[in-house]
Amino acid sequence: MTIDILYLIAAVCFIFALRGLSSPQSAFYGNCCGIAGIVLSCVATYIFLDISGIIFTLVAMAIGAGIGIYIAGKVSMTALPQMVAGFHSLVGLAAVLVAFAAYFAPGLFHLIGAYGICKFSLIEMGLGSAIGAITFSGAVVAFLKLEGLYKGTAIPAYANALLLSLLMCMLTYFVATNSATAFVILTIFSFLFGITLIAPIGGADMPVIVSMLNSYSGWAAAGIGFTLHSDLLIITGAIVGTSGAILGYIMCKSMNRSLLNVILAGGQCGAQASANALSKSKAYKNGSAEDIAFLLKNAESVIIVPGYGMATSQAQHALKEMSAILKKEGIKIRYAIHPVAGRMPGHMNVLLAEANVPYEDVCELDEINRDFASCDVAYVIGANDVTNPAAKHDTSSSIYGMQILEVEKAKAVVFLKRSMGTGYAGVDNELFYAPNTMMLLGDAKKTTEEVIKELQNVV
Ligand code: NDP
Repeated sequence: MTIDILYLIAAVCFIFALRGLSSPQSAFYGNCCGIAGIVLSCVATYIFLDISGIIFTLVAMAIGAGIGIYIAGKVSMTALPQMVAGFHSLVGLAAVLVAFAAYFAPGLFHLIGAYGICKFSLIEMGLGSAIGAITFSGAVVAFLKLEGLYKGTAIPAYANALLLSLLMCMLTYFVATNSATAFVILTIFSFLFGITLIAPIGGADMPVIVSMLNSYSGWAAAGIGFTLHSDLLIITGAIVGTSGAILGYIMCKSMNRSLLNVILAGGQCGAQASANALSKSKAYKNGSAEDIAFLLKNAESVIIVPGYGMATSQAQHALKEMSAILKKEGIKIRYAIHPVAGRMPGHMNVLLAEANVPYEDVCELDEINRDFASCDVAYVIGANDVTNPAAKHDTSSSIYGMQILEVEKAKAVVFLKRSMGTGYAGVDNELFYAPNTMMLLGDAKKTTEEVIKELQNVV
């Protein structure tokens, strides 16, 4: 009974953690609540449950914690999405291993009834293993894609539908017959389905997939919770599963897509590369740091649009310094954040917060989009897909339908990037060649520092 109350308190801590993490101001307290919940649940488990092999468990936890601390200390800000995908894969694998342990040693898990393993337990194990396997292999593919090690393969939607049907049949057969062979085949099909589900997802749709995998890992954990009769794991898994699903929904909404549409459009992966050829032949205006500084110092209102390139170049501190110089001159500065800018949800917010950019200067897409028409300069730093007008009119484009930051409406647009190349979605950006656009080519941090130097000379 005491342990149930402690688990309930831990679950409430997790809910407060999520609440806190919904805003940068309260994120620290959110994290503290989460840590408190985890510590409480571990302590309660060790004190109140009769755990055999506790030394072995503690050693395993210490090794895991050591590896976690090492990876977290080593990983760069730009590689966080890959790391998150990697961690999702581990949750999936854990679900598969627990399901297998429970199936092959049901006595240890108190799953044996008068007629062997009961049907409900078989459903839990089948679902837990299937969702876990899909999460594991899907997250590994997502990791490879985000790391740039694998570009993806076009797989027709009907092939996935067929595999999913086979998977459902195998699950039904397993529950009906309690066949070990069916259990193993079900898991193998699920591993395969994870790969074929994520492999064809192209370019701009990856954020939705990362959120989906987050959700799957939660449901996989909830599945383990049923097998282990752990209410806390069920609650925690359900919280992660639901919040991941809501995040996926928000991502889909910001891209004007439905989840089904994202998954079915995956079959088009690889068709977009041809657009890149366009960039070779068109003329564009190449500016210097001096030109950009001139534009900025004569502006009344500037909107900065950060993207993945700001993260790779770590230009956020230089950007903050530039904003401070301009603000001193009475120029209005705001930052426009697209929900899928960068490579993970909230990527830009984290980096700007790290550079102490005031929260009130940072605006979401919906609140700032209409202001581009009245702004003098849109300073686009390492962003590309999230500004590409092809999303509005090119029905053949893989980003068609995605909401964009309408920088093209600003009086002048400045793009800071290293080349005329494409962004993550591999789609050429027609805005680079527009009459009111100026390109400043080079590493975003270096070029922003050059702009600062010019501003210091002239302001
Ligand atoms: P993009 O990937 O569209 O563009 C980034 C641009 O930054 C590139 O065109 C690149 O051009 C430039 N760049 C890279 N390094 C540097 C550097 N050191 N200095 C200057 N420029 C640099 O990024 P966006 O943020 O605009 O859009 C995000 C994309 O990522 C979307 O397609 C989104 O769907 C996808 N995505 C988002 C995820 C999320 O959760 N947010 C997850 C997975 C994918 P160049 O090489 O010429 O320098």
